[in-house]
Amino acid sequence: MTRADASSLRPTDPLDAVRADTPGCRDVVFLDSAGSSLAPEPVVEAQIRHLRRETEVGGYLAAAERVDDLAAVKVSLGRLLGTTSESIALTDSATRAWNDFLAAVPLGPGDRVLLSQVEYSSNAIAALSRGRAVGASVEFVPGEPSGRLDLAALDAMLDERVRLVSIVHAPTNSGLLNPVREAAALAHRHGALVLLDACQSMGQVALDVHELDVDALSATGRKWLRGPRGTGLLYVRPELRLEPAAPDMRGAAWTASDTYATVPDATRFELWESDIAARLGLGAAADYLLDLGVDAVAAAVGERAEYLRAGLDDIPGVTVRDPAPPRSGIVSFTVDGVEPDAVRERLRALDVVVTVSVRGSTLLDMTARGLDSVVRASAHYFCSEADLDTFLSAVRRLR
Ligand SMILES: *Cc1c(COP(=O)(O)O)cnc(C)c1O
Repeated sequence: MTRADASSLRPTDPLDAVRADTPGCRDVVFLDSAGSSLAPEPVVEAQIRHLRRETEVGGYLAAAERVDDLAAVKVSLGRLLGTTSESIALTDSATRAWNDFLAAVPLGPGDRVLLSQVEYSSNAIAALSRGRAVGASVEFVPGEPSGRLDLAALDAMLDERVRLVSIVHAPTNSGLLNPVREAAALAHRHGALVLLDACQSMGQVALDVHELDVDALSATGRKWLRGPRGTGLLYVRPELRLEPAAPDMRGAAWTASDTYATVPDATRFELWESDIAARLGLGAAADYLLDLGVDAVAAAVGERAEYLRAGLDDIPGVTVRDPAPPRSGIVSFTVDGVEPDAVRERLRALDVVVTVSVRGSTLLDMTARGLDSVVRASAHYFCSEADLDTFLSAVRRLR
C-alpha cells in the first residue's frame, strides 16, 4: 500500500479513520509527536468554533456558554489519569504545572530536593532557582548506564530531610521509561513527596496516579495527547493541602483586608485568565484518546517504536540510543559521520519530520552517556507502516 493509496481510502478501519482526521500525515511522514504532535480535526474544530463564538458575543459570554464543557475537560483528563476532576488543574504548560507544584512544597534551609539523571532542563532550572532562594539543596540521583533511575542509589540518598523527589516518567531524549512505582514507594517510606513529570508518557502510556502512587503529576497538551499548544495540567493528590505560592481570584477568594480563602480543590492552582479555546481543544484531545482507548494507543505506539528500532538497527552506521525495555515511543539514534541537525534537515527535505534532542535539554543524562545530541523519531498511532518504511529508507540513504 502506498501512502497515496492510504490517504484516499475511506475511513473503514481505525488507522484510516485517524489518518483521515489528521490531514498533515498525508503530506509528511510525521515523527515528532514527542515534540508537538499533529492535532486531530476534532481538536482544531473545537478551538476554531470557540474562537468564532468569541468574535460574536465576546470572550465572557462565549465562556459562560461552555461552563459545563469546560468542567468536562477535567473529567476527561481525570479519566486518563484514574482520578477525579477535582484533583486536576489546567495550566498553560507542563513547566507551569511542575513549577507551581514545586513552589507550593514548603522548603527551608537544609531541606533536600532529589531530581534524576534524565531531569528535563526547565525542571532542573526551577529547582535550582528555588533551592538557591530558600537554602535547600538540589541533588541528582545517579542513573544506571542507560539513564534509568538507580533505585539503590535513590534509597541510599533518601533521609528525612528530603521533601520532594521528582521522577521523569519518560525523558525527552531517549526511549527510557523509569520505574515510577518503585521509586515512589522508596520516597514515601522517608516521608518525601513525589512529583511525576508525565510529559512524554501521558497520551502514549496508560497512567493511573493511584497505581503509580505519586503525589502530583505534570503533563503537557501538545505532545502525545495531540492537544493544542499552550495547554498543560497538574494533578495534585486531593488529601495534600498544599497552598499555591501565587493564587489569584480563581484559586482563592479575597475575604477581608488581611486575608483570602483558597478553594479546596486543585482549581487553586489555576489562574483566572486562560485560553478557553485551547482548553476546549485539550478536552477534545482527551476525548479522542478515550474513544480510541489508551491501551490500544499504547500498543500501537509501542509497535511502531519497535519497528523503527529494528529497522534502524539494520542500517550500517546507525546507532539506536535507547535503553533495554520497558521503553516509551521515543526512538533516539545517531548516524556515523552525519550530525543530528544535518540528519533532521536532510530528512525534512524528503518530507520526513523528526527532531533533535540536544545536550542542554537533559544535560546530566547526555553528559553521562557521552552524547551531544541525538535524532529523535517519535511515531504516534496515526503513522502507517508505509510512513515508517519511507523514514527508514531515507535514513538508509543518508550515508
Ligand atoms: C516537553 C517536556 C517538558 C515541558 O513541557 P512544556 O509543556 O513545554 O512546559 C517537561 N518534561 C519533559 C520530559 C518534556 O519532554
